[in-house]
Amino acid sequence: MTETRTDYDAVVIGLGFAGIYQLHTLRNTLGLRVRAFEKGSGVGGTWFWNRYPGAMSDTESPFYRYSFDDEFLKEWSWDRKYIDQPDILEYLEAVVDRYDLRRDIQLDTEITSLVFDDATETWTVTSVDGESWTARYVVTALGLLAAVNMPDIPGMDTFEGTLVHTAHWPGDLDIQGKRVGVIGTGSTGTQFISAAAKQASHLTVFQRHAQYSVPSGNGPTTPQEVEEIKAHYPEIWQQVRGSTVAFGFEESTIPTMSVSEEERERIYQEAWERGNGFYFMFGTFSDIATDADANEAAAAFIRRKIAETVTDPETARLLTPTEPYAKRPLCNLGYYELYNQDNVELVSIKEHPIVEITPKGVRTDDGREHELDVLVFATGFDAVDGNYRRMEIRGRGGLTVDEHWHDAPTSYLGVATAGFPDLFMVLGPNSPFTNLVPAIEVQVEFITKVIGSAAPDGAVIEATQQAEDEWTETCRDIADATLFPKTDSWIFGANIPGKKHTVLFYLGGMAGFNEILTDVEQHGFRGFDVRTPSVIA
Ligand code: FAD
Ligand code: NAP
Repeated sequence: MTETRTDYDAVVIGLGFAGIYQLHTLRNTLGLRVRAFEKGSGVGGTWFWNRYPGAMSDTESPFYRYSFDDEFLKEWSWDRKYIDQPDILEYLEAVVDRYDLRRDIQLDTEITSLVFDDATETWTVTSVDGESWTARYVVTALGLLAAVNMPDIPGMDTFEGTLVHTAHWPGDLDIQGKRVGVIGTGSTGTQFISAAAKQASHLTVFQRHAQYSVPSGNGPTTPQEVEEIKAHYPEIWQQVRGSTVAFGFEESTIPTMSVSEEERERIYQEAWERGNGFYFMFGTFSDIATDADANEAAAAFIRRKIAETVTDPETARLLTPTEPYAKRPLCNLGYYELYNQDNVELVSIKEHPIVEITPKGVRTDDGREHELDVLVFATGFDAVDGNYRRMEIRGRGGLTVDEHWHDAPTSYLGVATAGFPDLFMVLGPNSPFTNLVPAIEVQVEFITKVIGSAAPDGAVIEATQQAEDEWTETCRDIADATLFPKTDSWIFGANIPGKKHTVLFYLGGMAGFNEILTDVEQHGFRGFDVRTPSVIA
């Protein structure tokens, strides 16, 4: 860096997978003076906040971790197909300690505003307590699934039991032997339901849209399997970064209708027994996410499994989705089976909406009052831009992020947005829709290169509006070639009342994204305007 008058060279906000790695690269690779802020009282992000029973990854264990440290990859093991929340949190804490990051981390500090000063070309970062710091660069790692979506239902404040969102699960909340209700059957809801069915005396599932869930295949791994993977990590990461969804398997190249019905059935069944939602959608056939007939064939297989598994025909009917199989794929252990248990009851709030929450439970429009001790909201998140909208972010000329994103949240490559110089995002709008740790790693490494290229001369870097518009167009075109826009989910912002249904992800895959980043870098960070500041900060 040239002469510095800011408190820090760079500030990082948020300390999940993204912020932790970003702090490490800015400080330990570029040698910048960095301060990282996190509103939680611990690091870990998603894995600090989501402590509900059953919380775990659905990326398989070997691939839900950083790839950048060969030695640490050899040291850190796993013993199940998926990693439970406490183990992911422990892993992230170990990363923080390994790189001695704690000394530059400030916990319990919610950042409420980021304001760019046009005169000095620096950012002022202010916390909820009114404390302020200045920095040349800001990297926001606020989480794409971190701004909680809590529906407003009449009578919520009258409930006499415990009312909780899964992402704010209190450490001391035990549901053993209790009457539990859960609203929401997405990835979180189905994970929670699978765990809660074993603990609650009675579990009432309030389901709006039925979901396709395939088996996870979770279970123990052998030390030999673990050692085998560790021995081949370099090739494995190369495969992950060169694949589409980056989940550690080869995506299928076979179109569904190119094989006989018997062969299709065999391939679906094999995937059903193997387990994993992304594998079922992308490892069986090449066109489930893009071709309506292929999608229907896979969906019909899952619907047949529901009919075979669930003994009560009415419960089976309610559990059977009628929409395309085009949301983020789910997987669980014994999900449909658990509805055969006497202690589990399914209530369709599509057919009988919730009218109010009463002191004793939940009343649906058929007049029934479902009595509960604990009511769990597994209602998801205001995804991607949610946490940005909850802050005051002002760029050049006082432009707010809400003004800039008045039509829809946009970015260039998911990492920068025009009008906000020297501000970078990890997993900003239109980032890759993949296994997310590899996506985080490539974005963090790219941001580090961009800052590294400009910092020595004190240059100011900003995405151009043209590059941003073109990237949005690219993402929209790719999304429109898939079936995903045909269902309402957080992937397009359709889960939040009043939020515009729009493209929020680059659905072109990890390999394609990597190629684009390499090309942008090789062309002198094309799409970024790099200029020498009028005042050296
Ligand atoms: P986060 O981990 O969300 O971290 C963001 C941090 O920013 C949070 O700690 C938050 O408190 C902090 N923050 C936000 N705003 C502010 C502010 N204003 N001031 C200070 N701090 C702030 N992805 C997968 O690929 N595979 C999986 O198996 C998988 N499982 C998941 C399971 C659950 C239950 C959930 C909710 C998500 C899952 N995801 C999964 C997505 C997951 O969010 C990402 O994989 C990854 O953990 C995101 O890391 P991050 O650092 O970008 O964001
Ligand atoms: P989600 O997919 O958005 O699901 C939210 C659920 O709540 C849906 O069933 C939705 O119903 C319901 N809901 C929302 N608002 C409601 C309302 N007002 N009334 C009634 N029901 C309402 O959220 P999520 O389950 O938390 O998952 C979000 C993402 O986080 C996942 O897609 C995944 O990327 C990640 N995640 C991963 C895992 C994992 O397996 N490792 C676990 C948890 C989360 P409708 O379907 O009818 O809208």
